[in-house]
Amino acid sequence: MSTILDTVTFHDGNTAPRIGLGVWQVENDVIVPTIHKAIEAGYRLIDTAAIYGNETGVGEAIKTCGLDRNELFITTKLWNDRHGYDETMKAFDESLEKLGLDYVDMYLIHWPVPKHGLYVKSWEALIQLRDEGRIKSLGVSNFNIGHLQTLLDETGVIPVVNQIELNPRFQQPELRAYNAEHGIITQSWSPLGQGTLWDLPILKSIAEKHGRSVAQIVLRWHLQLGNMIIPKSVTPARLVENITLGDFSLDEDDMAAIATLHDDDARWGPDPERFRLPKES
Ligand code: NAD
Repeated sequence: MSTILDTVTFHDGNTAPRIGLGVWQVENDVIVPTIHKAIEAGYRLIDTAAIYGNETGVGEAIKTCGLDRNELFITTKLWNDRHGYDETMKAFDESLEKLGLDYVDMYLIHWPVPKHGLYVKSWEALIQLRDEGRIKSLGVSNFNIGHLQTLLDETGVIPVVNQIELNPRFQQPELRAYNAEHGIITQSWSPLGQGTLWDLPILKSIAEKHGRSVAQIVLRWHLQLGNMIIPKSVTPARLVENITLGDFSLDEDDMAAIATLHDDDARWGPDPERFRLPKES
């Protein structure tokens, strides 16, 4: 089904690689060699965020990687304390400046922060920035069905991507279904459950059956659901492993067995209805 070069086409007509590199908790001092190794391995999408504190390093890696800008897909995100139209405009300028770019391929509202009630205003700013050509595609992260419906009702513009917590233990079936019905691509964050899935017997036995690692089984599962993925690693061998997913596939029994691992209470990240800033959550 997939090769590392597989792309997804958004409802706005733009395309993006299905697999990308997430760089949360990758410090500025190791980010340049990490991104260069990733690019060597075939990655073309980098997922960063203002709050990760490494947009400068990402920008340096882009500048020095030897590829043309249009060969890369760069995502960054608006942090929770910058919601509102004017603040969003300023925060976006700051991100672009740090990245050393004149556009990003995708900009996401990182969390809806419903308590502040400003995500629609931020969305209006994103629409303006898209119209100016400084954002190619508009997305959100951690939006529940109600937040997505509000964007649609109030602006008529639906995101191309909803980046959400998703792994075999926490599969988000209702939200995935809503995304799919509205042409929104689901992008799984922490697709490897932050490294907490290795000992699950169902995953281990599927990995043995296919002669692959548990990480590869899990990442392939995401792809077969139609999701985009942004696994994080700074280890060269794992960077390669995580993108070598095109030469095997999971069968119906494998997919059905993994479906049984879902638990509504297995979310480990914050609840999007409540999350504002770490100290307030
Ligand atoms: P992940 O699920 O990608 O897991 C990363 C962990 O697994 C790391 O400890 C890594 O060393 C280990 N690992 C990676 N590949 C491995 C392999 N092949 N074998 C064994 N271990 C392996 O976790 P993550 O970093 O939390 O998530 C990935 C990305 O998702 C982040 O970097 C970030 O870009 C994004 N993210 C977004 C949000 C959001 O709110 N939008 C939240 C969290 C993460």
